[in-house]
Amino acid sequence: MSNQLQKVVLVGRMNVGKSTLFNRLSVENKSLASNHPGLTRDFVTDKVDWNGKHFELIDSGGVLLSKTDADFVKLVNEQVMRLMQEAQVILLVCDGTVGIHNEDRELAKKIHKLGKFAITVVNKMDTNLAKEKFHEFERLGLDHTIAISAQHGYAIGDLLDEIAEQITESGAPKAEVKFRVTLLGKPNVGKSSLMNLLLGKERTIVSEIAGTTREAIKEDIRFYQEDLQLIDTAGVRRKRGVVEFVETLMVKSTMAAIRESDVILLLLDGSEGKLLDQELKLAFYVLEQGKALILLFNKQDLVDEQTADDLEYSVSEYQHFMKKVETLKISCKTGKNIGKIMPLVKEVWERASQQFSDIELNSLFKDGMLARPLYRNGQRLVLRKARQIMKSPITIDLYVTQPDYFGPSQLAFFENLLRSKYKLRSVPVKLNAKRG
Ligand code: GDP
Ligand code: GDP
Repeated sequence: MSNQLQKVVLVGRMNVGKSTLFNRLSVENKSLASNHPGLTRDFVTDKVDWNGKHFELIDSGGVLLSKTDADFVKLVNEQVMRLMQEAQVILLVCDGTVGIHNEDRELAKKIHKLGKFAITVVNKMDTNLAKEKFHEFERLGLDHTIAISAQHGYAIGDLLDEIAEQITESGAPKAEVKFRVTLLGKPNVGKSSLMNLLLGKERTIVSEIAGTTREAIKEDIRFYQEDLQLIDTAGVRRKRGVVEFVETLMVKSTMAAIRESDVILLLLDGSEGKLLDQELKLAFYVLEQGKALILLFNKQDLVDEQTADDLEYSVSEYQHFMKKVETLKISCKTGKNIGKIMPLVKEVWERASQQFSDIELNSLFKDGMLARPLYRNGQRLVLRKARQIMKSPITIDLYVTQPDYFGPSQLAFFENLLRSKYKLRSVPVKLNAKRG
């Protein structure tokens, strides 16, 4: 981990307004507020700067979910406990409209035992009910009790002041992240499992309970002396489910995550014997956006010969695309090839960030055109010079007399020359024909 930021954690029951508050406190609008009690989150984190203090804000998500699955509740509780242990400041968020709830009391008890600085944050002060009940929350006995409205932005600055006072060191801002890696995939494909393996700890909650998808979780990691950020996104769903409006947003946030990233790891279920249209579309979109792409076929432990054949057949239609990208067959369960992922990510990033000299490019392209002249409308095409104008994505301008004659197939000719000479798997290459 590259950052030594002190942590501030939001804990509390479901629906008290933690994610709304998280959004208020955090710079970007990453978390989702929702009236759906089943929409659980794991935790979401962000860096907050206030009065010259820097800290990491963590939303623990719902502490108690439906009590039907005791194991899951236990898992969540353990995670929340660990977050509180690691935090410098704990914010116990309560719903002012309901008054003190048993779960508030239980959490307060745990906080007392930890002996950490903690604030009871009584939310929903925009309502009369909350105003009436505010003082009863002082009985929870935490260091401070503060009345806010997360939704209306009331007293948020005061809350930030109180938090910042407790942050002892100014906490050096995080090291510059060199590049960002985003993990994408439909629900249950193994994103959390992989994230945990890559981070080497129980970072997110793995669960078979449908609906336990999350929004993006970001984590800065250090790998081979490189600072990079690993982002786990919510699943992209094929079918519109019950929580339709949320999913539309998730898809949007997935697209946004792609645009913000440098390398995309698209996790696929190798045991299903086929790729979904949506997965392929996403893969195309990634390269189109100029981002590097690695395909990871997970759950290899479940793959038999038949499934392997089926998958092979399913992707054979896309050979042209598949041969452009690196693929790894992995299993989060057995650990197969997990150790190869990050070295490959690093290598792909280096490929995407390389700079070709004018000499290299011009001799490659001109020799290529000598060996196989290009014609259009009976006219032989001439390349005056080529120059790489950008890295990641590698972008090359071709200066030609008649740019109109350089359509997709002509440009593909140059791309293929480049790809056959240099190792460029997983890396997008953009070519533009310019008059010159
Ligand atoms: P979480 O489950 O604790 O993360 O809670 P959410 O942030 O998802 O909020 C639960 C519900 O409470 C949502 O419907 C929010 O719109 C609502 N809510 C959050 N903050 C306030 C507030 O300050 N006032 C009122 N009236 N409602 C709020
Ligand atoms: P996410 O929704 O994409 O984050 O998926 P999870 O990481 O929560 O995994 C969904 C389910 O698939 C869990 O039950 C995992 O234990 C299981 N799973 C993940 N990877 C593998 C794998 O390689 N093999 C097998 N057999 N199961 C896996």
